[in-house]
Amino acid sequence: TTTTLSDAELTLELDRAHVFHSWSAQGALKPFSIAKALGSTVWDYDGTEYLDFSSQLVNMNIGHQHPAVIRAITEQAELLTMVAPANANLARGKAAQRILDRAGEPFNKVFFTNGGADANENAIRMARLTTGKDKVLSQYRSYHGNTGAAIVATGDWRRMPNEFARGHVHFFGPFAYRSEFWSDSVEQEGERALHHLERVILSEGQSTIAAILIEGVPGTAGVLVPPPGYLAGVRALCDKYDIRMIIDEVMSGFGRTGEWFAWQGFAAQEGDWTPDLITFAKGVNSGYVPAGGVIISESIANAFEDAVFPGGLTYSGHPLAMASIVGALDAMEAEGIVENAKTIGTDVLGPGLAALAAKHPMIGEVRGLGVFWALDLVDDGATRAPVSPAVIAALKTELLQRGLLPFSADNRIHVVPPCVITADEVARALAIYDEAFTAVETNAG
Ligand code: PLP
Repeated sequence: TTTTLSDAELTLELDRAHVFHSWSAQGALKPFSIAKALGSTVWDYDGTEYLDFSSQLVNMNIGHQHPAVIRAITEQAELLTMVAPANANLARGKAAQRILDRAGEPFNKVFFTNGGADANENAIRMARLTTGKDKVLSQYRSYHGNTGAAIVATGDWRRMPNEFARGHVHFFGPFAYRSEFWSDSVEQEGERALHHLERVILSEGQSTIAAILIEGVPGTAGVLVPPPGYLAGVRALCDKYDIRMIIDEVMSGFGRTGEWFAWQGFAAQEGDWTPDLITFAKGVNSGYVPAGGVIISESIANAFEDAVFPGGLTYSGHPLAMASIVGALDAMEAEGIVENAKTIGTDVLGPGLAALAAKHPMIGEVRGLGVFWALDLVDDGATRAPVSPAVIAALKTELLQRGLLPFSADNRIHVVPPCVITADEVARALAIYDEAFTAVETNAG
Protein backbone atom coordinates (compact mmCIF):
# COMPACT_ATOMS: atom_id res chain seq x y z
CA THR A 1 0.00 0.00 0.00
CA THR A 2 1.12 3.53 -0.67
CA THR A 3 0.44 6.23 1.84
CA THR A 4 -0.65 9.57 0.48
CA LEU A 5 1.24 12.48 1.94
CA SER A 6 -0.59 15.63 2.93
CA ASP A 7 0.52 18.83 1.19
CA ALA A 8 2.24 19.84 4.43
CA GLU A 9 4.21 16.58 4.49
CA LEU A 10 4.96 16.62 0.77
CA THR A 11 6.18 20.23 0.95
CA LEU A 12 8.67 19.41 3.68
CA GLU A 13 9.71 16.12 2.10
CA LEU A 14 10.45 17.66 -1.31
CA ASP A 15 12.18 20.62 0.30
CA ARG A 16 14.42 18.51 2.46
CA ALA A 17 15.20 16.14 -0.39
CA HIS A 18 15.94 18.66 -3.13
CA VAL A 19 16.15 22.32 -2.04
CA PHE A 20 19.46 23.84 -1.01
CA HIS A 21 18.89 26.74 1.40
CA SER A 22 20.67 30.08 1.96
CA TRP A 23 23.16 30.75 4.78
CA SER A 24 22.59 27.36 6.46
CA ALA A 25 24.05 24.01 7.24
CA GLN A 26 21.60 21.90 5.25
CA GLY A 27 21.31 18.95 7.61
CA ALA A 28 19.25 20.24 10.50
CA LEU A 29 16.80 22.48 8.65
CA LYS A 30 13.08 22.28 9.27
CA PRO A 31 11.70 25.26 7.34
CA PHE A 32 8.34 26.82 8.11
CA SER A 33 6.03 26.17 5.14
CA ILE A 34 3.70 28.79 3.69
CA ALA A 35 0.81 27.79 1.46
CA LYS A 36 -0.97 31.09 0.91
CA ALA A 37 -1.12 34.67 2.15
CA LEU A 38 -3.20 37.83 2.14
CA GLY A 39 -2.34 41.27 3.48
CA SER A 40 -0.42 40.78 6.73
CA THR A 41 -1.49 37.16 7.20
CA VAL A 42 0.01 33.89 5.98
CA TRP A 43 -1.34 30.34 6.24
CA ASP A 44 0.53 27.06 6.48
CA TYR A 45 -0.61 23.90 4.67
CA ASP A 46 -2.73 22.82 7.61
CA GLY A 47 -4.71 26.04 7.35
CA THR A 48 -3.29 27.62 10.50
CA GLU A 49 -2.96 31.38 10.20
CA TYR A 50 -0.08 33.59 11.30
CA LEU A 51 0.47 37.33 11.45
CA ASP A 52 3.48 38.03 9.24
CA PHE A 53 5.68 40.18 11.46
CA SER A 54 8.69 39.34 9.30
CA SER A 55 7.33 40.73 6.02
CA GLN A 56 9.17 37.63 4.69
CA LEU A 57 12.67 39.09 4.28
CA VAL A 58 11.53 42.57 5.34
CA ASN A 59 10.29 43.16 1.81
CA MET A 60 6.52 42.63 1.85
CA ASN A 61 5.79 46.34 2.33
CA ILE A 62 2.48 46.50 0.46
CA GLY A 63 1.27 43.27 2.07
CA HIS A 64 0.70 39.90 0.47
CA GLN A 65 -1.34 39.48 -2.71
CA HIS A 66 -2.32 43.11 -3.15
CA PRO A 67 -4.91 43.05 -5.96
CA ALA A 68 -3.48 46.11 -7.78
CA VAL A 69 -0.04 44.50 -8.06
CA ILE A 70 -1.45 41.13 -9.11
CA ARG A 71 -3.55 42.89 -11.75
CA ALA A 72 -0.57 44.87 -13.08
CA ILE A 73 1.51 41.68 -13.39
CA THR A 74 -1.33 39.71 -14.99
CA GLU A 75 -2.08 42.41 -17.56
CA GLN A 76 1.61 42.72 -18.44
CA ALA A 77 1.96 38.93 -18.65
CA GLU A 78 -0.83 38.76 -21.17
CA LEU A 79 0.68 41.60 -23.21
CA LEU A 80 4.44 40.97 -23.19
CA THR A 81 6.56 39.04 -20.71
CA MET A 82 10.12 39.78 -21.88
CA VAL A 83 12.10 42.29 -23.88
CA ALA A 84 15.87 42.58 -24.04
CA PRO A 85 17.26 45.42 -21.94
CA ALA A 86 18.47 47.27 -25.06
CA ASN A 87 14.87 47.70 -26.23
CA ALA A 88 12.58 50.37 -24.86
CA ASN A 89 9.35 49.40 -23.14
CA LEU A 90 6.57 51.52 -21.69
CA ALA A 91 6.34 49.65 -18.36
CA ARG A 92 10.06 50.21 -17.80
CA GLY A 93 9.89 53.93 -18.52
CA LYS A 94 6.89 54.32 -16.22
CA ALA A 95 8.58 52.38 -13.41
CA ALA A 96 11.69 54.60 -13.67
CA GLN A 97 9.52 57.72 -13.67
CA ARG A 98 7.55 56.56 -10.60
CA ILE A 99 10.78 55.88 -8.71
CA LEU A 100 12.42 59.18 -9.71
CA ASP A 101 9.29 61.12 -8.71
CA ARG A 102 9.82 59.82 -5.18
CA ALA A 103 13.60 60.33 -5.09
CA GLY A 104 13.38 63.96 -6.26
CA GLU A 105 16.28 66.10 -7.48
CA PRO A 106 19.09 65.65 -8.50
CA PHE A 107 18.21 62.11 -9.59
CA ASN A 108 17.28 61.57 -13.23
CA LYS A 109 18.00 57.96 -14.27
CA VAL A 110 17.38 54.43 -12.96
CA PHE A 111 19.46 51.34 -13.78
CA PHE A 112 17.37 48.24 -13.06
CA THR A 113 18.79 45.04 -11.59
CA ASN A 114 17.36 41.75 -10.33
CA GLY A 115 17.68 42.58 -6.64
CA GLY A 116 19.61 44.46 -4.00
CA ALA A 117 23.06 42.86 -4.23
CA ASP A 118 23.48 43.61 -7.92
CA ALA A 119 22.14 47.12 -7.31
CA ASN A 120 25.05 47.67 -4.92
CA GLU A 121 27.52 46.08 -7.36
CA ASN A 122 26.52 48.56 -10.03
CA ALA A 123 26.41 51.59 -7.73
CA ILE A 124 29.95 50.75 -6.58
CA ARG A 125 31.02 50.40 -10.22
CA MET A 126 29.54 53.81 -11.06
CA ALA A 127 31.31 55.44 -8.13
CA ARG A 128 34.64 53.86 -9.08
CA LEU A 129 34.35 54.78 -12.75
CA THR A 130 33.29 58.38 -12.15
CA THR A 131 35.92 59.12 -9.48
CA GLY A 132 38.77 57.10 -10.93
CA LYS A 133 39.24 55.91 -7.35
CA ASP A 134 38.95 52.46 -5.94
CA LYS A 135 38.23 51.87 -2.25
CA VAL A 136 34.73 51.53 -0.84
CA LEU A 137 34.09 52.25 2.83
CA SER A 138 31.14 50.57 4.53
CA GLN A 139 30.05 49.73 8.05
CA TYR A 140 30.92 46.66 10.08
CA ARG A 141 27.28 46.60 11.12
CA SER A 142 25.81 46.21 7.65
CA TYR A 143 24.46 43.83 5.04
CA HIS A 144 24.71 44.76 1.37
CA GLY A 145 24.04 41.47 -0.49
CA ASN A 146 25.56 38.19 -1.56
CA THR A 147 27.64 38.95 -4.68
CA GLY A 148 31.29 39.84 -5.40
CA ALA A 149 31.67 43.36 -4.07
CA ALA A 150 28.40 43.51 -2.09
CA ILE A 151 29.28 40.62 0.21
CA VAL A 152 32.73 42.06 0.88
CA ALA A 153 31.20 45.48 1.53
CA THR A 154 28.94 43.70 4.04
CA GLY A 155 30.20 43.97 7.59
CA ASP A 156 28.64 40.98 9.33
CA TRP A 157 29.90 37.38 9.61
CA ARG A 158 28.75 36.51 6.10
CA ARG A 159 31.64 38.53 4.63
CA MET A 160 34.45 36.48 6.11
CA PRO A 161 34.14 33.21 4.14
CA ASN A 162 33.59 35.25 0.95
CA GLU A 163 36.33 37.84 1.05
CA PHE A 164 37.53 37.67 -2.57
CA ALA A 165 36.83 41.19 -3.86
CA ARG A 166 39.40 43.89 -3.24
CA GLY A 167 39.22 47.54 -2.29
CA HIS A 168 36.87 47.29 0.70
CA VAL A 169 37.45 48.95 4.08
CA HIS A 170 35.08 48.93 7.07
CA PHE A 171 34.30 51.39 9.83
CA PHE A 172 32.02 51.54 12.85
CA GLY A 173 28.80 53.50 12.56
CA PRO A 174 26.93 54.98 15.51
CA PHE A 175 25.13 52.57 17.88
CA ALA A 176 24.61 54.29 21.21
CA TYR A 177 23.27 51.22 23.06
CA ARG A 178 26.43 49.25 22.29
CA SER A 179 28.85 52.12 21.75
CA GLU A 180 32.34 51.59 20.35
CA PHE A 181 33.13 55.17 21.33
CA TRP A 182 32.51 55.29 25.11
CA SER A 183 29.85 57.89 24.45
CA ASP A 184 27.10 58.52 26.95
CA SER A 185 24.57 60.24 24.74
CA VAL A 186 23.16 59.73 21.28
CA GLU A 187 24.57 63.11 20.19
CA GLN A 188 28.05 62.24 21.40
CA GLU A 189 27.80 58.85 19.66
CA GLY A 190 27.03 60.57 16.35
CA GLU A 191 29.88 63.08 16.72
CA ARG A 192 32.43 60.47 17.71
CA ALA A 193 31.34 58.09 14.93
CA LEU A 194 31.92 60.93 12.45
CA HIS A 195 35.33 61.66 13.94
CA HIS A 196 36.19 57.95 13.61
CA LEU A 197 35.00 57.91 9.99
CA GLU A 198 37.14 60.91 9.10
CA ARG A 199 40.14 59.25 10.74
CA VAL A 200 39.51 56.12 8.62
CA ILE A 201 39.27 58.25 5.44
CA LEU A 202 42.55 60.01 6.21
CA SER A 203 44.29 56.82 7.27
CA GLU A 204 43.23 55.03 4.08
CA GLY A 205 44.18 58.04 1.95
CA GLN A 206 41.47 60.34 0.69
CA SER A 207 42.73 60.05 -2.89
CA THR A 208 41.97 56.30 -2.86
CA ILE A 209 38.32 56.34 -1.78
CA ALA A 210 35.56 56.14 -4.41
CA ALA A 211 32.52 55.68 -2.21
CA ILE A 212 31.00 55.41 1.21
CA LEU A 213 28.22 52.82 1.07
CA ILE A 214 25.79 53.08 3.95
CA GLU A 215 22.27 51.83 4.69
CA GLY A 216 19.61 54.50 5.24
CA VAL A 217 18.92 52.66 8.49
CA PRO A 218 21.17 49.60 8.96
CA GLY A 219 18.54 46.85 8.99
CA THR A 220 19.71 43.28 9.44
CA ALA A 221 22.47 44.63 11.71
CA GLY A 222 19.80 45.69 14.22
CA VAL A 223 17.65 48.62 12.98
CA LEU A 224 20.33 51.14 13.97
CA VAL A 225 18.57 54.46 13.51
CA PRO A 226 21.33 57.04 12.93
CA PRO A 227 21.55 59.93 15.42
CA PRO A 228 20.36 63.32 14.14
CA GLY A 229 23.09 64.85 12.01
CA TYR A 230 25.08 61.67 11.40
CA LEU A 231 24.12 61.11 7.77
CA ALA A 232 24.47 64.84 7.05
CA GLY A 233 27.95 64.55 8.55
CA VAL A 234 28.78 61.61 6.27
CA ARG A 235 27.58 63.72 3.34
CA ALA A 236 29.87 66.56 4.44
CA LEU A 237 32.86 64.20 4.63
CA CYS A 238 32.05 62.89 1.15
CA ASP A 239 32.04 66.47 -0.16
CA LYS A 240 35.26 67.35 1.64
CA TYR A 241 37.17 64.38 0.24
CA ASP A 242 35.47 63.97 -3.18
CA ILE A 243 33.83 60.66 -2.27
CA ARG A 244 30.50 59.42 -3.72
CA MET A 245 27.79 58.78 -1.13
CA ILE A 246 25.79 55.61 -1.89
CA ILE A 247 22.74 55.10 0.31
CA ASP A 248 21.56 51.48 0.37
CA GLU A 249 17.78 51.72 0.72
CA VAL A 250 17.17 48.07 -0.16
CA MET A 251 15.59 47.33 3.22
CA SER A 252 14.89 50.85 4.53
CA GLY A 253 13.27 52.20 1.35
CA PHE A 254 9.72 52.40 0.01
CA GLY A 255 7.76 52.82 3.21
CA ARG A 256 9.60 50.77 5.81
CA THR A 257 10.55 53.83 7.88
CA GLY A 258 7.37 55.76 7.10
CA GLU A 259 9.12 57.65 4.26
CA TRP A 260 9.65 56.77 0.61
CA PHE A 261 13.36 56.68 1.46
CA ALA A 262 14.77 56.63 4.98
CA TRP A 263 17.43 59.23 4.11
CA GLN A 264 14.71 61.72 3.18
CA GLY A 265 13.37 61.68 6.71
CA PHE A 266 16.79 62.56 8.12
CA ALA A 267 17.67 65.04 5.37
CA ALA A 268 14.43 66.94 6.01
CA GLN A 269 15.68 67.67 9.54
CA GLU A 270 19.33 68.13 8.61
CA GLY A 271 19.23 70.74 5.86
CA ASP A 272 18.18 68.84 2.78
CA TRP A 273 21.33 67.04 1.70
CA THR A 274 21.09 64.31 -0.96
CA PRO A 275 23.18 61.21 -1.67
CA ASP A 276 24.84 60.62 -5.08
CA LEU A 277 23.42 57.15 -5.68
CA ILE A 278 20.54 55.23 -4.07
CA THR A 279 20.17 51.47 -4.29
CA PHE A 280 16.80 49.79 -3.87
CA ALA A 281 14.97 46.43 -4.20
CA LYS A 282 12.56 44.74 -1.74
CA GLY A 283 9.81 47.31 -1.02
CA VAL A 284 9.83 48.87 -4.50
CA ASN A 285 7.39 46.14 -5.57
CA SER A 286 7.36 44.05 -2.39
CA GLY A 287 9.14 41.27 -4.26
CA TYR A 288 6.13 40.09 -6.26
CA VAL A 289 8.66 39.77 -9.09
CA PRO A 290 12.40 40.04 -8.31
CA ALA A 291 13.64 43.60 -8.97
CA GLY A 292 16.11 46.18 -7.74
CA GLY A 293 18.17 49.02 -9.09
CA VAL A 294 20.31 52.12 -8.78
CA ILE A 295 18.85 55.63 -8.73
CA ILE A 296 21.46 57.84 -10.37
CA SER A 297 22.04 61.55 -9.82
CA GLU A 298 22.29 63.70 -12.92
CA SER A 299 26.02 64.36 -12.66
CA ILE A 300 26.84 60.65 -12.47
CA ALA A 301 24.37 59.77 -15.22
CA ASN A 302 25.92 62.50 -17.41
CA ALA A 303 29.34 60.90 -17.07
CA PHE A 304 27.97 58.04 -19.15
CA GLU A 305 26.46 60.17 -21.92
CA ASP A 306 29.53 59.64 -24.10
CA ALA A 307 31.47 57.05 -22.12
CA VAL A 308 30.18 53.47 -22.25
CA PHE A 309 28.69 52.09 -19.01
CA PRO A 310 30.34 48.68 -18.71
CA GLY A 311 27.53 46.73 -17.04
CA GLY A 312 24.27 44.93 -17.83
CA LEU A 313 21.90 42.08 -17.02
CA THR A 314 19.58 40.02 -19.25
CA TYR A 315 16.66 40.82 -16.97
CA SER A 316 17.43 44.51 -16.39
CA GLY A 317 14.04 46.18 -16.49
CA HIS A 318 12.08 42.95 -16.99
CA PRO A 319 8.51 43.86 -18.04
CA LEU A 320 6.80 41.81 -15.32
CA ALA A 321 9.00 43.40 -12.66
CA MET A 322 8.43 46.86 -14.11
CA ALA A 323 4.66 46.44 -14.25
CA SER A 324 4.69 45.25 -10.64
CA ILE A 325 6.67 48.37 -9.61
CA VAL A 326 4.16 50.68 -11.30
CA GLY A 327 1.25 48.78 -9.75
CA ALA A 328 2.81 48.73 -6.29
CA LEU A 329 3.94 52.36 -6.17
CA ASP A 330 0.65 53.71 -7.52
CA ALA A 331 -1.33 51.67 -5.00
CA MET A 332 0.96 52.70 -2.13
CA GLU A 333 0.40 56.33 -3.07
CA ALA A 334 -3.36 56.02 -3.59
CA GLU A 335 -3.91 54.12 -0.36
CA GLY A 336 -1.59 56.16 1.85
CA ILE A 337 0.44 53.08 2.73
CA VAL A 338 3.66 54.96 3.55
CA GLU A 339 1.72 57.34 5.79
CA ASN A 340 0.15 54.32 7.48
CA ALA A 341 3.61 52.93 8.26
CA LYS A 342 4.58 56.24 9.83
CA THR A 343 1.38 56.67 11.88
CA ILE A 344 1.33 53.07 13.07
CA GLY A 345 4.95 53.40 14.15
CA THR A 346 4.45 56.65 16.03
CA ASP A 347 1.02 56.03 17.56
CA VAL A 348 0.72 52.27 18.06
CA LEU A 349 3.75 50.08 17.43
CA GLY A 350 6.43 52.28 19.01
CA PRO A 351 4.48 52.96 22.23
CA GLY A 352 3.31 49.32 22.36
CA LEU A 353 6.86 47.98 22.15
CA ALA A 354 8.01 50.49 24.78
CA ALA A 355 5.29 49.17 27.12
CA LEU A 356 6.39 45.62 26.35
CA ALA A 357 9.99 46.52 27.26
CA ALA A 358 8.85 48.11 30.53
CA LYS A 359 7.25 44.80 31.46
CA HIS A 360 9.99 42.42 30.30
CA PRO A 361 13.53 43.16 31.56
CA MET A 362 14.89 40.83 28.86
CA ILE A 363 14.18 43.62 26.36
CA GLY A 364 17.23 45.81 26.83
CA GLU A 365 16.39 48.33 24.14
CA VAL A 366 13.57 49.03 21.70
CA ARG A 367 14.64 51.04 18.67
CA GLY A 368 13.17 51.87 15.30
CA LEU A 369 10.63 53.93 13.41
CA GLY A 370 7.73 53.30 11.07
CA VAL A 371 7.30 49.53 10.74
CA PHE A 372 11.02 48.93 11.28
CA TRP A 373 11.83 47.96 14.90
CA ALA A 374 14.27 45.79 16.85
CA LEU A 375 14.08 44.37 20.36
CA ASP A 376 17.66 44.02 21.64
CA LEU A 377 17.47 41.16 24.14
CA VAL A 378 19.81 40.93 27.11
CA ASP A 379 20.55 38.54 29.96
CA ASP A 380 21.37 41.42 32.24
CA GLY A 381 20.15 44.99 31.88
CA ALA A 382 23.30 46.40 33.49
CA THR A 383 25.96 44.65 31.37
CA ARG A 384 23.71 44.43 28.30
CA ALA A 385 25.06 40.92 27.68
CA PRO A 386 23.15 39.50 24.70
CA VAL A 387 20.79 36.56 25.30
CA SER A 388 21.94 33.18 24.00
CA PRO A 389 20.77 31.68 20.68
CA ALA A 390 18.71 29.20 22.76
CA VAL A 391 16.59 32.05 24.13
CA ILE A 392 15.93 33.37 20.62
CA ALA A 393 15.01 29.85 19.45
CA ALA A 394 12.60 29.44 22.38
CA LEU A 395 11.00 32.80 21.70
CA LYS A 396 10.52 31.95 18.02
CA THR A 397 8.81 28.69 18.97
CA GLU A 398 6.49 30.46 21.43
CA LEU A 399 5.63 33.16 18.87
CA LEU A 400 4.86 30.65 16.12
CA GLN A 401 2.71 28.56 18.47
CA ARG A 402 0.63 31.67 19.15
CA GLY A 403 0.22 32.56 15.48
CA LEU A 404 2.97 35.09 14.77
CA LEU A 405 5.69 34.63 12.16
CA PRO A 406 8.76 36.34 13.68
CA PHE A 407 12.02 37.71 12.32
CA SER A 408 15.19 37.24 14.35
CA ALA A 409 18.84 38.20 13.92
CA ASP A 410 21.59 37.53 16.45
CA ASN A 411 20.18 38.36 19.93
CA ARG A 412 17.28 40.33 18.51
CA ILE A 413 13.68 40.02 17.45
CA HIS A 414 12.96 42.44 14.62
CA VAL A 415 9.37 43.68 14.54
CA VAL A 416 8.86 44.33 10.84
CA PRO A 417 5.26 43.88 9.66
CA PRO A 418 3.98 45.03 6.26
CA CYS A 419 3.36 48.79 5.90
CA VAL A 420 -0.37 48.02 5.58
CA ILE A 421 -0.57 46.61 9.11
CA THR A 422 -3.60 47.84 11.05
CA ALA A 423 -3.86 48.98 14.67
CA ASP A 424 -5.94 45.86 15.44
CA GLU A 425 -3.31 43.55 14.00
CA VAL A 426 -0.61 45.36 15.97
CA ALA A 427 -2.67 44.93 19.15
CA ARG A 428 -2.97 41.18 18.47
CA ALA A 429 0.75 40.93 17.79
CA LEU A 430 1.70 42.86 20.94
CA ALA A 431 -0.41 40.46 23.02
CA ILE A 432 1.39 37.52 21.39
CA TYR A 433 4.86 39.00 22.00
CA ASP A 434 3.87 39.65 25.62
CA GLU A 435 2.72 36.05 26.17
CA ALA A 436 5.78 34.63 24.42
CA PHE A 437 8.18 36.66 26.57
CA THR A 438 6.28 35.61 29.70
CA ALA A 439 6.47 31.95 28.65
CA VAL A 440 10.22 32.11 27.99
CA GLU A 441 10.87 33.94 31.27
CA THR A 442 8.78 31.38 33.16
CA ASN A 443 10.59 28.42 31.55
CA ALA A 444 13.95 30.02 32.29
CA GLY A 445 12.87 30.00 35.94
N1 PLP B 1 21.13 45.70 1.03
C1 PLP B 1 20.40 45.61 2.14
C2 PLP B 1 20.37 46.75 3.11
C3 PLP B 1 19.66 44.44 2.40
O1 PLP B 1 18.93 44.34 3.53
C4 PLP B 1 19.69 43.39 1.47
C5 PLP B 1 18.93 42.13 1.70
O2 PLP B 1 18.50 41.83 2.79
C6 PLP B 1 20.49 43.54 0.32
C7 PLP B 1 21.18 44.72 0.13
C8 PLP B 1 20.58 42.46 -0.70
O3 PLP B 1 19.43 42.37 -1.46
P1 PLP B 1 19.12 41.04 -2.29
O4 PLP B 1 18.99 39.93 -1.32
O5 PLP B 1 17.87 41.38 -3.04
O6 PLP B 1 20.27 40.84 -3.24
